[in-house]
Amino acid sequence: MGEAFPWQEAPNADFCVIGDPVEHSRSPEMHMAAFEVLGLPYRYVRVHVPKGEASQALEHLRDRGYVGVNATVPHKEAAFEWAEEPDARSSRIRAANTLRLGTREATNTDGPGFLYTLNGLGLPRGARVLILGAGGSARSVAAALSDAGFNLAIWNRSPERVFRLLAETGVPAAVEDSPTLLGVRLVVNTTSVGLHGDRLPLDWSRCDPELVAYDLVYGNTPFLDQARALGLRTRDGTELLVAQGALSLE
Ligand code: NDP
Repeated sequence: MGEAFPWQEAPNADFCVIGDPVEHSRSPEMHMAAFEVLGLPYRYVRVHVPKGEASQALEHLRDRGYVGVNATVPHKEAAFEWAEEPDARSSRIRAANTLRLGTREATNTDGPGFLYTLNGLGLPRGARVLILGAGGSARSVAAALSDAGFNLAIWNRSPERVFRLLAETGVPAAVEDSPTLLGVRLVVNTTSVGLHGDRLPLDWSRCDPELVAYDLVYGNTPFLDQARALGLRTRDGTELLVAQGALSLE
């Protein structure tokens, strides 16, 4: 857990990550380490922005002279809405994680970063993938997996959000009323449930022994604990943090 500034009290800095919660974010340490290696004199901080205040906060940060912002939960859709020059990838999924404030440009590096982290897992093209959640990062993950030829199913606590995701992104996927792991080779938890230590309504009893369980949250989550207890291969969000962060830094 690191220091987070309320957006109204954002300090002198060049870059920040905005989120709610945001104290858990490791982006400042990661980007500061990269700036140091690259010999760049920038400062990157955590800024706490409550839900519904992203647009106001982004205007304030722009006025304060911030150059770039990374948006995390729950602001990726609001960050996209704020941008006036979104690129094609963020426009398709209507969610942005990287903003250049001066020009109001936006992109989203979660999808390509996520695909990069699947290297080495041996997942065959056409394999069935279950995505849990339908928020900003689910959109990036769904679009990237669909473009890479996987067969998608999506479950979300609020089903109307899945239908909106499918309609707005054009991603083909089955909509699940309750999440089933039967025949699934990769299950990706894109919900923020792990941040609060809550559990998802998953029945692990009939899953494939080859199943890979992937949680976008970094560190241990009840979801990954359950998968490990069954001897399944797992991935947490650490590699994705690095992969999306490297693209964002670029
Ligand atoms: P959003 O706020 O856009 O979406 C949150 C999702 O979580 C929604 O599907 C929401 O469902 C669901 N959810 C929240 N609480 C619960 C609950 N108690 N039970 C069931 N579902 C719940 O968030 P993002 O998509 O931006 O981010 C999701 C997670 O992914 C975050 O934890 C974030 O930190 C992590 N992440 C990590 C990255 C990394 O680099 N490792 C990169 C991107 C994201 P509903 O629609 O019903 O509210």
